[in-house]
Amino acid sequence: MALGVSHLDRDTGDLAFTDALTGLGNQRRFNDKVERLIADRAEDPAPFTVGILDLDGFKPINDLFGHRAGDDILIQVAMRLKAAADGDSAVARIGADEFAFLYPLVFSEEAAAEKSRMLIEILSAPYDVGERTARLSASVGCSLFQSTDDSTETLMRKAETALYHAKRSGRGRVVVYTREMEEAAKRVTRIEQALRRAVAAGEVAPHFQPIVDLNTRRTIGFEALARWTDRDLGFVSPAVFIPIAEERGIIGPLSQLVLRKAAEAARNWPRDMFLSFNLSPSQLVDQNTGLHILSILERTGFDPRRLEIEITETGLMTDPASAEKIVEDLRRVGIRVSLDDFGTGQSSLGRLREFRFDKLKIDRAFVASILEDRPSEHIIRAILAMCEGLGMDVVAEGIEQEAQAERLVQFGCAGGQGYLFGRPADAEATLGYLREAHRGAAYARAI
Ligand code: C2E
Ligand code: MG
Ligand code: MG
Repeated sequence: MALGVSHLDRDTGDLAFTDALTGLGNQRRFNDKVERLIADRAEDPAPFTVGILDLDGFKPINDLFGHRAGDDILIQVAMRLKAAADGDSAVARIGADEFAFLYPLVFSEEAAAEKSRMLIEILSAPYDVGERTARLSASVGCSLFQSTDDSTETLMRKAETALYHAKRSGRGRVVVYTREMEEAAKRVTRIEQALRRAVAAGEVAPHFQPIVDLNTRRTIGFEALARWTDRDLGFVSPAVFIPIAEERGIIGPLSQLVLRKAAEAARNWPRDMFLSFNLSPSQLVDQNTGLHILSILERTGFDPRRLEIEITETGLMTDPASAEKIVEDLRRVGIRVSLDDFGTGQSSLGRLREFRFDKLKIDRAFVASILEDRPSEHIIRAILAMCEGLGMDVVAEGIEQEAQAERLVQFGCAGGQGYLFGRPADAEATLGYLREAHRGAAYARAI
């Protein structure tokens, strides 16, 4: 562990304030320094910058090269950061692969971002690991001391929030904290709290959007789409609450609630109609997902052969082996599997070789531009040809105009979904729609 410490001059010999591996200051020393600076600026609160730097993908490097090599790299990172620090600034190691820095003389957002980019640049040069070399990138979140209301704790929390945003937007990014970020974080927490309550109270429900045979225009099934109207927040779009549910670990119970309600509703539909249900990426890394789905089908008495599961490519990426196992378990009982939103995200055709899908849903971005845009047209035709070759059904999503539907039929697309055929509607309205479509005039006369 002491390896490399001698390369670095410690500020003091006090081990309680020193990181044993790198010899840099630790979190305690760093906090002390920030606290002292805040005290110094009490009279004249000139801004300064704190930042947190997190190595991207350090864990895989550790796994690949071994822990000794991982330690070596951390020591080299520490040396480079230390060398980059000028007289007034400070750098510390505050987590396994997290470092903090303090720039007393950096007082604008631009300058903070500039300094951070320089650190990332310095860390991007190759590292010697025995005979080999490794490369690293890093992400940085910064916050600026603006007023004496800012404590060390709030400054660090803001830098962490900024770092979180940086990490989410990709590797090697720098984000400087803004007030909007705080507002956004608060709003997410408010939605999370309200959603937890709503799920426990059974207040999230599915709406159903028809999926049609494009040639006959007959409805062949419905996609269940979660809907939630909170008493305080009002209507919240699933495009907002589903990602929050995923991130904050509510997606499991939410999904079970919606599937149970959807299966109960779909039991009353004609037997040849399928129910299509979305699974989130995080559900494909949880081996309980399959069991939950099967037990809901059993309890509601819904035939698994009438169920389709929609998953996205992102859902397969995190842990393909886990996703494959879940999908195989579902398929064994007759559940079909669709690839949703195809053509956006990190599409990989290789995925279609490794994974067997029963159906592919063409993302609505292509359908939206099919009439004006030659590339979209060619892409759709290529997808259709590929699906035919691979024996997959196809549904084009987001069809809003008759002319789009006609063009798709002309290209040989068999399935369609979109506002042209119907918007998502609740269980009762859906049943009404089906009665009308199937009993037609007879039903209309009876009411
Ligand atoms: P998705 O699975 O791709 O669902 C299709 C989305 O397109 C739905 O949005 C639907 O209302 C919308 N849409 C359908 N036809 C048209 C059209 O003609 N024009 C336009 N502009 N939009 C159309 P929605 O209901 O807002 O859902 C958004 C996304 O949220 C879904 O995208 C799905 O990824 C997710 N989601 C919804 N419900 C659930 C759920 O129960 N579980 C999970 N895991 N995800 C869900
Ligand atoms: Mg879908
Ligand atoms: Mg979709």
